[in-house]
Amino acid sequence: MEDIRDILKQYWGYDAFRSLQEEIILSVLSGKDTLALMPTGGGKSITYQVAGLAKEGICVVITPLIALMKDQVEDLKRRQIQAEAVYTGMEREHVESVINKCIFSPVKFLYISPERLASERFRIKLKQMKVSLFAVDEAHCISQWGYDFRPSYLRIAEVRTFFPEAPVLALTATATPDVVEDIQKQLHFTCPNVLSKSFRRENISYVVRNVNDKLGELLHILSKLQASAIVYVRKRNTAEQLARFLSENGVKADFYHAGLIARQRTQRQEDWKNDITPVIVATNAFGMGIDKPDVRIVVHFDIPDCPEAYFQEAGRAGRDGKRAYAVLLCNPAAVTALKSRITKGFPEKKYIRQVYEALGNYFQIAEGSGAGYAFEFDTDAFVRDFGLDYVRTFSAIQILQVGGYLECTTDINSRSRINFTISREALAYFRPDDDLQNRIIELLMRRYPGIFTQYVWISEDYLAQEAGVKRKEIYETLIALAKRRIISYVPGNERPYIVYHQPRLPVSYLTIGKAAYEDRKKAYASKIKEMVRYIEDSSRCRQLVLMDYFGQKEKKGCGICDVCLETKKHTTSGDKTRIEDEIIAILMNKDTDLKILVHRLEEQFDRELVVATVRNLLDKGKIYYKTPLLLSVKKMNV
Ligand code: ADP
Ligand code: MG
Repeated sequence: MEDIRDILKQYWGYDAFRSLQEEIILSVLSGKDTLALMPTGGGKSITYQVAGLAKEGICVVITPLIALMKDQVEDLKRRQIQAEAVYTGMEREHVESVINKCIFSPVKFLYISPERLASERFRIKLKQMKVSLFAVDEAHCISQWGYDFRPSYLRIAEVRTFFPEAPVLALTATATPDVVEDIQKQLHFTCPNVLSKSFRRENISYVVRNVNDKLGELLHILSKLQASAIVYVRKRNTAEQLARFLSENGVKADFYHAGLIARQRTQRQEDWKNDITPVIVATNAFGMGIDKPDVRIVVHFDIPDCPEAYFQEAGRAGRDGKRAYAVLLCNPAAVTALKSRITKGFPEKKYIRQVYEALGNYFQIAEGSGAGYAFEFDTDAFVRDFGLDYVRTFSAIQILQVGGYLECTTDINSRSRINFTISREALAYFRPDDDLQNRIIELLMRRYPGIFTQYVWISEDYLAQEAGVKRKEIYETLIALAKRRIISYVPGNERPYIVYHQPRLPVSYLTIGKAAYEDRKKAYASKIKEMVRYIEDSSRCRQLVLMDYFGQKEKKGCGICDVCLETKKHTTSGDKTRIEDEIIAILMNKDTDLKILVHRLEEQFDRELVVATVRNLLDKGKIYYKTPLLLSVKKMNV
């Protein structure tokens, strides 16, 4: 086996592992199933990548977002590592060719979305690969106690039985103790094995601002700061309104949400990354996989549902290790609204049945059929046509999803379409601008029969592979051909789809079990309660409250959150006397190293105050240095 440090150096050029990375890799290489908990930006990807390279065979990576998948694959290819991805919406021939490559060539990484595991075709092919490791990214998605349950993740346990020798490496940035246990259970870990990095973020100052005028406060904060910032909101139109409000008031801002078409999203993300628009107002659609180091502030204009989401989003601040802020804006009305989300999130079962029935009618599925089919889902039209409520409908779909009936996913790219607008004969007279145009035209004619008479689905990725160029070049060439009125080109878009996992049932057969409803409602309510506690408890360090939630019991406050700062301000002379007394008491007992002394006291008192008191006692001559490090007390003075 190659040395893992050499691998890191050879492919990434890094000299050392970050803390915990090496432990994780060694654990996996010793064949143990491993769950790695590391905050966002901690460097999780490298752990399975290095482990995968160190092992013979292919590493199958299960990850929920297509965009992330493509980034990772491109990144690996750039490092001369063979990597491929397969996702729903890819042209069938393209899928086949990628999968065959994984069987017959030395591909090291295959990225798949969890939905792929359901395909029998894929499972048969998978068995023929030489899988050395399963990496499960965003592993909390496997647990329905987590905050982003994806039922397809549950299939991982089935496919891992094909390769009893291959360990699983599960990775996540957020998991409560319950979820940590559940992940290991659902992935069939042979032994419990969790490696976790502290969730403490030394440089993030968490702040909760209770203000009536949230808008005014937001403007105030952002005008003062003038740095890269993310403002999180819950609703798309709030994102648009806030961005406009900020721009009108002199703060350069843009908005981002899942309603924008892919190209706009990429553009806005780029502009923000390059500080052209320093402030982005976004829904939670923004952020996964974003790796901008110098975000100085993350403001939550609305309260998130749970500490997991809050921690993830706030954690996008200050990846460079320099001081950053995570500010949550709220007021009593917002807290009331937060609590009311429980009833909205869990509509009556009657309502859920109504939504199920409406979906079946909308897609025109006959009872007993529909299993395995995906239907493009125009949410707005659906809700409008059936006179439903948007939020409750989504909640109902979520519950049906947990029940295993269907799944709503944006994972499928609605595919691009092309139709030649001139006849085959006329095309003979067309003069292409360049050779690529020529090749693309030939490919289109050869690969897509019927393209002269009607629109056919095409895949830019497939064409890119066939032509041996980048997807972007294909896209640009197609646009150019469209401009020259040779073809009509409708680029694809990421739209939500509903996939039926079971045939449509008569509605009276639909059962919504305790596990899908009552238990989850209780869990959701308790997460909301935790959020309220985070907001309202002004006696505990915010950092410690969050760490405690993730099962990390520590006592040392951060010293920079609003609670710690407030406590410092109110440190009374009484506290100072108590610290003095403690120091003297410790030194009376035993001469003590300064560092150890401070360490012992900083659990109870503010560190700076302890240091100041030591200095003060030294000045007053009550204590002295016996050796350059050892403090002692003047016994006769006491
Ligand atoms: P996560 O998935 O935990 O959020 P990533 O895997 O995306 O984090 O890594 C975040 C960044 O840290 C990446 O740019 C990666 O290249 C970098 N990184 C990871 N490990 C190291 C290391 N040992 N030395 C230097 N940079 C690293
Ligand atoms: Mg990651």
